[in-house]
Amino acid sequence: MANEEIEKVHVLIIGSGPAGYTAAIYAARANMKPVLYQGIQPGGQLTITTEVENYPGYPDGIQGPEMMVHFEKQAARMGADIRYGLATQVDFSQQPYKVQIDEEKWIAADSIIICTGASAKWLGLPSEERLNGFGVSACAVCDGFFFKGKEVAIVGAGDTAAEEALYLSKLCTTVHMLVRRDQMRASKVMQDRVLATPNIKVYWNTDTEEVLGESRVEAVKIRNHQTGETAEIPVSGFFVAIGHQPNSGIFKGWLDMDETGYLLTTPGTTRTNIEGVFAAGDVQDKNYRQAVTAAGSGCMAALDAERYLTAKGLN
Ligand SMILES: Cc1cc2nc3c(=O)[nH]c(=O)nc-3n(C[C@H](O)[C@H](O)[C@H](O)COP(=O)(O)OP(=O)(O)OC[C@H]3O[C@@H](n4cnc5c(N)ncnc54)[C@H](O)[C@@H]3O)c2cc1C
Repeated sequence: MANEEIEKVHVLIIGSGPAGYTAAIYAARANMKPVLYQGIQPGGQLTITTEVENYPGYPDGIQGPEMMVHFEKQAARMGADIRYGLATQVDFSQQPYKVQIDEEKWIAADSIIICTGASAKWLGLPSEERLNGFGVSACAVCDGFFFKGKEVAIVGAGDTAAEEALYLSKLCTTVHMLVRRDQMRASKVMQDRVLATPNIKVYWNTDTEEVLGESRVEAVKIRNHQTGETAEIPVSGFFVAIGHQPNSGIFKGWLDMDETGYLLTTPGTTRTNIEGVFAAGDVQDKNYRQAVTAAGSGCMAALDAERYLTAKGLN
């Protein structure tokens, strides 16, 4: 890594979802000259959804991809330097911290804001992929409302699946909960709540064979792998709640993370265990995972970075 090959920037933002663009807006307006790398999914997770109805400021709702174009335009108008590229390696051993882009170029930065998000895990069925956004969803809080008064199915057996099933049970007539094993992984208290909810019907030892429907979800085909019995349940929505994978692999060994890979930040801040390196959005949030909370923590990260740089005399 010869010195002349390294571009020096003041603030480097990794990721272009709601957290990254909001951090860029705040950092650019504070004259911190942020450089933002978008990664392989410019705009982040909302570019793979259709209608977003719960982001404040859009009274009629908005398509996810369109909303993320607005985020990008706003960050660019404030002066953020937005680039296409993937962070492939980091070296946080000393200031300025270094990040490799696309396995080639190295960038050195006084401060880094990590907004690399998380990816929902899917079952991997072709029909699930084909109907994604047309009745198939990985987020009950985001999309449950669209199925008000209807029947839905949900796959999963952990705490998140239990929580999402309970959330859906308040909106939907029946929630068919498909559990692979003969028990749930969810905590006892969550299991008890699920089992005590009259409109949640639990199917044990059950695999999803296919999501059925031409242009929208119409039913789900299931199979009990103990009895071999198959059935088709008519549903309008199919929720997958088998977990999320935070995009934090390149930070392993440098930043503290929990057993799933979520980056750990000091509560009430976006500070990681390395000073000057901040984390915002879904990559550090396994609880809320919403666009508005990601944007909120992106704002916090830019303010935390600004205070850090001022305190260090690096502005
Ligand atoms: C189908 C679906 C529908 C949803 N609907 C809603 C909704 O209606 N309302 C709502 O509030 N929330 C919704 N969500 C949740 C919402 O999308 C997320 O909470 C939010 O996008 C998280 O923002 P983020 O900025 O943390 O990360 P993300 O949106 O996950 O973006 C991560 C960014 O990091 C980039 N990246 C990752 N790794 C690297 C790397 N190594 N180098 C450079 N860049 C990298 C990616 O390219 C991407 O740009 C939905 C999610 C999904 C999947």
